Amino acid sequence: MPEDQKPTRSSPTWPTAASTVVGVMGDPVAHSLSPLLHNAAFDALGLDWVSVAFPVAAGHSAAALEGIRVLKIAGLSVTMPHKEDAYALVDETTPVARRLGAVNCVTWRDGSLVGDSTDGEGFLAALRRDAGFDPDAKRCAVIGAGGAARAVILALAGAGAAEVVVLNRTPARAEVAAALAGPVGRVGSAADVVDAELVVQATPLGMARREGSGSGQLPFDAQSLHLGQVVADLVYHPRQTPLLEAARARGAVAVGGLGMLVHQAALALERWTGRAVPVEALWAAVEARSSG
Ligand code: NAP
Repeated sequence: MPEDQKPTRSSPTWPTAASTVVGVMGDPVAHSLSPLLHNAAFDALGLDWVSVAFPVAAGHSAAALEGIRVLKIAGLSVTMPHKEDAYALVDETTPVARRLGAVNCVTWRDGSLVGDSTDGEGFLAALRRDAGFDPDAKRCAVIGAGGAARAVILALAGAGAAEVVVLNRTPARAEVAAALAGPVGRVGSAADVVDAELVVQATPLGMARREGSGSGQLPFDAQSLHLGQVVADLVYHPRQTPLLEAARARGAVAVGGLGMLVHQAALALERWTGRAVPVEALWAAVEARSSG
C-alpha cells in the first residue's frame, strides 16, 4: 500500500494487517497499565505499532511464548506469575536476567526470543528523575526479598551503593536476596533503616485491593524516618501509600512506585523498537488516566 494511503493511528480503520503487535502477559492483567504506556510511546513516535494485554493463567507460560514465536509478536512485557517460567523458556538471556533468574521483557530479535529484566534499571531511572538520587557510595536498605526487591538490590549494588541491607519477613529469603549485592549486601535490622540514606519498600504492604497486603507490618517504625532520607515505595496503587505519607511528614523525600513502572516500560520499548522513548509522553498518559 502506498505510504500516503496507509491508515494513520487516528484512522477508524487502524490497526491494519501491517501493524506490529506487542503486549503484556500476566494474570491478572486486565488492569495493567502496560498497554497504555506502550501505546502512548507509539503515538509519540508515530509508529504503526499496537500493544494489548494477554491474560495467561499460571502454568501456561510455555504455550504463550510458543504463540509469540509463531505470531511474530515483536515484544512482550512479562508480569506475575510468569517471570521465572519465561526466563527458562526464552532462547537467550541478558546478564541481569541470568543473575535474577527472571525476565520481565521479551524481545523477538533475528528469530529468537531474548529475555531481559528492566525493573532494576527502571528503578534507578525513576530515582534519578523523581529524587535526583544517585546510589553511588550511599547506604541503602531494602524491605522485601521477592522478585522486585531482588531486581532493586542487584541494581543498587551495580550502581555502586556502599551497602545494601535487606530486611524480610522470611529471613532465609533475605539472605539469598542480600547475596545478590555481593560484598556490600547483608541482612539487617530496623536500626539500619534509620541509618540508611535510601529506604526501599518492596513488599505488597500498603497496596490497595489485594488480599493479605494490609495484614502485615513493616519491620521498622515509619515514624523513625527523617530529613535527609529518600524513601521509595514500589507499590503504585494507591499512588500515595501510608509509608510515603509518613516519610513526607517526617521530612524525607518520598518516591512512589509509578516511576519504576514507567521507566521499565520505556526501557522495554527501546529494546523492541530500537528508538529512544520520550518518557514524558508515558507520564502524561498515566496522569491523564489518573485524572480521568
Ligand atoms: P513477590 O515476589 O511475591 O515478593 C513479595 C515480598 O513481600 C516478599 O519478600 C514477601 O516476604 C513480602 N511480603 C508479602 N506479604 C507480606 C506481608 N504481609 N508482610 C511482610 N512481608 C510481606 O512480589 P514482587 O513481585 O517482589 O512485588 C512486590 C511489590 O512490588 C508488589 O506490591 C508489586 O506490585 C510491586 N512492584 C512494583 C513494580 C513497579 O514497577 N513499581 C514492579 C514490580 C513489583 P516473604 O519472603 O516472607 O514471603
